[in-house]
Amino acid sequence: MNHHELVSRIMDLKKETKTVIMAHNYQRPEVQDVADILGDSLELARLARELKEERILLCGVRFMAESAKIVAPEKTVLTPEEEAGCPMADMISAEDVRRLRKEFPGYLFMAYVNTSAEVKAEVDLCCTSSNALALVRKLKGEKIFFLPDKNLGSWIKDQTGADMEVWPGFCYVHNRIRLEDLEKGRAEHPGAEAIIHPESPLDVLKAADAVLSTGQMITYVREAQAKRFLVGTEEGMIYRLETLFPDRDFYPMGKRFTCENMKKITLEKVFQALLTGEKPINVDSETIRRASRSLDRMLEMSR
Ligand code: SF4
Repeated sequence: MNHHELVSRIMDLKKETKTVIMAHNYQRPEVQDVADILGDSLELARLARELKEERILLCGVRFMAESAKIVAPEKTVLTPEEEAGCPMADMISAEDVRRLRKEFPGYLFMAYVNTSAEVKAEVDLCCTSSNALALVRKLKGEKIFFLPDKNLGSWIKDQTGADMEVWPGFCYVHNRIRLEDLEKGRAEHPGAEAIIHPESPLDVLKAADAVLSTGQMITYVREAQAKRFLVGTEEGMIYRLETLFPDRDFYPMGKRFTCENMKKITLEKVFQALLTGEKPINVDSETIRRASRSLDRMLEMSR
């Protein structure tokens, strides 16, 4: 099947099987192009619950599909590739959290959504890169243990002054962005605004014009006066921005950074998942019950 036939079969199968394709902003361009809904982690989790359709094919890494299943357990959530995981999410286990709870009594445990369902079941509250700062500001005075991303945690601590302990996990994609990348980009593209994802190192975040989730980048660019942007995040977002704003210019901050895990999902695998209905995400009911408390609390607090 050539590319055109593959896309056409995917479009037919979506209708025949009444499946909604949700895709994260870091997906391959050709996967973004067949998606019904594109978004960041918060947008995908929120919409997974609100959708009237009962069947979702989630193109993103595993924790995103698990989150959709946790917030909408009655729906069938499929993944095109079970092996698409997030290395940062694998940097902390449920056992680690149980141990830390004993070491840090009285702390509120807050997990970035980039964690397994089992870890979400152990914490008090989840957050995404869109709402982490706002949630911590609402938790005035609480002592917080933040996990697993040291960069996002350091950024929140820096911006809010909260009493926080931070687990030393990181995203291997964003953690490679350097201050020199930003400075070189500014020198090469004078006038470009530097927008960056908060999984990047703190010194780069502090030097940027705006620190934003991928969803917030879209709003920011839409409202900005600037026509040129240096973008510090995974390369899929540059395609997304170029598609939405063809009259603006977007340059990667440093080289084009790629998340190999997100890219494990291909158009062929999307087709196979729709055709066979295989690879449903299963999370046991007790984990769903416990993990949904921290995810629901997040959704409730970020209304
Ligand atoms: S970009 Fe980083 S945080 Fe996102 S899925 Fe890839 S490794 Fe995980």
